[in-house]
Amino acid sequence: MILDMFNLKGKVAVVTGANTGLGQGMCVALAQAGAKVAGVARRSCAETAKLVEANGGEFLEVIADLSSVEPVERILNETVDKFGRADILVNNAGIIIREDAIDYREEDWDKVIMTNQKVVFFLCQAFARQYIKQGEGGKIVNVASMLSYQGGIRVPAYTASKSAILGLTRALANEWAKYNINVNAIAPGYMATNNTQQLRSDEQRSGEILERIPASRWGTPEDMMGAVVFLSSAAAEYVNGFTIAVDGGWLAR
Ligand code: NAD
Repeated sequence: MILDMFNLKGKVAVVTGANTGLGQGMCVALAQAGAKVAGVARRSCAETAKLVEANGGEFLEVIADLSSVEPVERILNETVDKFGRADILVNNAGIIIREDAIDYREEDWDKVIMTNQKVVFFLCQAFARQYIKQGEGGKIVNVASMLSYQGGIRVPAYTASKSAILGLTRALANEWAKYNINVNAIAPGYMATNNTQQLRSDEQRSGEILERIPASRWGTPEDMMGAVVFLSSAAAEYVNGFTIAVDGGWLAR
């Protein structure tokens, strides 16, 4: 039956940036759909663990700093040691550093590209190798952005990295679909999280943004739940290399 295709019972999901915001919401969604969840974060995921467990799920906290590729193998190993396998990777962790392009510093460029782009690729590679070893396919869901499609203002490294995510998602889908690995992405619109705190506290920018969103509101972590469960499930078996916008209609304007 169709709803059974969305059921993630027996699956193991890894979500990066699990302690807050969209990542926390996606952990809860995957747990509600039946998956065991490993949450990766630099600091405690206690709040997320509580929410997952309140939803009847099992949670593993993996402390890791994704400002280098160093913890990539350990994230996979800790997950497999605890839960025996891995089936779903959600590359959600990301940073944004705002500065006029003319003044943008090399070290800020490197930080953003490292976490948002390089580490994402190597996590995809590590998990795809594991999926191939397990022989049953797997899912990868990357988190893109409106700035995978648009230029943005004062965020050149972020735009470059999120545009790369859209392309990388296609490239990996092409190579790995034959292994039954689905690589897709979600492009959130303007969501009320830490990532947009600075933007939302700027009255003028905030007003301009809200005015342009057909749904007339900022998105929430709950808005991500349907898309992440879909792309992580058997219902998305023939969806490859696509980036789904969850944006209240922003891109439709
Ligand atoms: P957030 O700042 O609340 O969450 C970012 C997460 O990434 C946090 O959990 C943070 O701890 C984690 N993270 C950052 N650097 C890390 C590092 N070095 N090591 C480990 N974890 C690290 O913001 P959010 O809105 O929940 O962002 C989640 C994702 O969604 C990001 O990739 C962001 O770019 C993307 N996104 C957000 C919006 C939005 O409007 N909020 C829009 C489009 C895309």
